[in-house]
Amino acid sequence: MKIYDVIGIGVGPSNLSTAALIKPFSSKLSSIFFDHKKEFSWHPGLMFPDAKLQVSILKDLVTMIDPTNKFSFLNYLKEERKLYIFAARNGFSNVKRKEFEAYLKWVVSKLDNLYFNSNVEEIDHTGELFKVKVNSEIFETRNILMGAGLTSNIPNFCRSWLSSTLFHSSQFLKQYNNYRGKSVAIIGDGQSSCEILKFILENDDDSLPSRINWIFRNHRLNLLEDTPFANELYTPNYSEYIYSLEKNQRTKLIEQEKYTSDGVSGSMLNEIYDLLYYMKFNTKCEISIYNDSSLTDLKKENEKYFMSLNNESTIESEIVILGTGFYYQIPKCIERLSKEYYIEDGVFKIDKKFRLIPKSNIKGSIFIHNGAKHVRGIADPNLSLVAWRSGVIINTLLNSDIYNISDEMTIIDWKKK
Ligand SMILES: Cc1cc2nc3c(=O)[nH]c(=O)nc-3n(C[C@H](O)[C@H](O)[C@H](O)COP(=O)(O)OP(=O)(O)OC[C@H]3O[C@@H](n4cnc5c(N)ncnc54)[C@H](O)[C@@H]3O)c2cc1C
Repeated sequence: MKIYDVIGIGVGPSNLSTAALIKPFSSKLSSIFFDHKKEFSWHPGLMFPDAKLQVSILKDLVTMIDPTNKFSFLNYLKEERKLYIFAARNGFSNVKRKEFEAYLKWVVSKLDNLYFNSNVEEIDHTGELFKVKVNSEIFETRNILMGAGLTSNIPNFCRSWLSSTLFHSSQFLKQYNNYRGKSVAIIGDGQSSCEILKFILENDDDSLPSRINWIFRNHRLNLLEDTPFANELYTPNYSEYIYSLEKNQRTKLIEQEKYTSDGVSGSMLNEIYDLLYYMKFNTKCEISIYNDSSLTDLKKENEKYFMSLNNESTIESEIVILGTGFYYQIPKCIERLSKEYYIEDGVFKIDKKFRLIPKSNIKGSIFIHNGAKHVRGIADPNLSLVAWRSGVIINTLLNSDIYNISDEMTIIDWKKK
């Protein structure tokens, strides 16, 4: 049986970046990646036609760590013969998520070690090697690279009602089915909730819901902070700085910096406000906004959901969309093996090289993408540091500085003072 140097679990942007950056060194580092999806897609339930990428396109899968790698967005444009027309429209600050997905699919089509329809069921360790069970078949590897992404945050009291009339925002476009004359509740006020609200309100007057109940915890909608100073928080230097802090200080900063990633873009806020202004005079769709409100319970009776709020009021709607975000959950396939690694507050302890920390001597390592927000800060689930993190992981796997991961400048000297 072939023994791989590394097996990747999941093919989202994180592991795809690592696969693309491993490619030039594939003779030194054998790898294979599995994903349970039928084919590659990038958050299809929220792929609205005009949704924009919220990060510089220079932060593609490879450019930030190796601009000469052939899997860059620029090379995608060149190979697709789109480079001149992309430049003609000053496209760099205006890339749609759909185009970014097309780029990701192009990278997928160029790599021959990515397998879809391949569910990783269990990961085990046998003293020398990891054994990975994929669709009942066993693969052996010296190291694991987790890239399984985040989990939809669904309140427990909603779980038993999950259906085509109550679902998480990540399922929106799969479940959406014309809400003409219906009452719809949207829970949450992040970018996804706003995109969903906009999509529903942009229907013809005759296809509008009769009522929208928009319920969110915040006092008001928060602007996504997108200044160059905010963007400094999405650099390797800042990631290393956050990692060097004491837990309390780090947790406080991560909370303070929340709206550099969890706010709503200015253009979206303007569009939503315009739509709400128009709706005020359109009697076909009444809109009630419940700010300072959180959902505390939910029941269903006669095809209607009754939602209890923290202020003890009850709101009813026929459709409920949970824009309640995502969180890191230890994936099922590693649940049993996870007992061999340090875990605190439901998340793995992670060393400086993005490895899980074992309780005893285990040969080989488990690396993790998108599971280190608690030690690396708000940039961890974002695309900004994906290429750099892949560089750190590949250097560690090869025990060699093949990628330059350390000499980028920042304007502020992010060092523990
Ligand atoms: C709608 C949306 C838009 C976003 N837009 C931006 C943006 O503009 N800019 C930005 O910086 N960030 C953005 N993000 C945040 C982040 O960049 C993305 O969530 C990104 O997809 C994270 O990549 P990932 O590879 O870590 O995880 P994912 O993309 O979630 O990929 C994980 C993969 O693992 C697979 N998987 C899981 N478990 C298993 C298993 N047991 N076996 C096999 N396969 C498995 C899944 O099928 C999935 O394909 C966005 C997030 C969302 C939800």
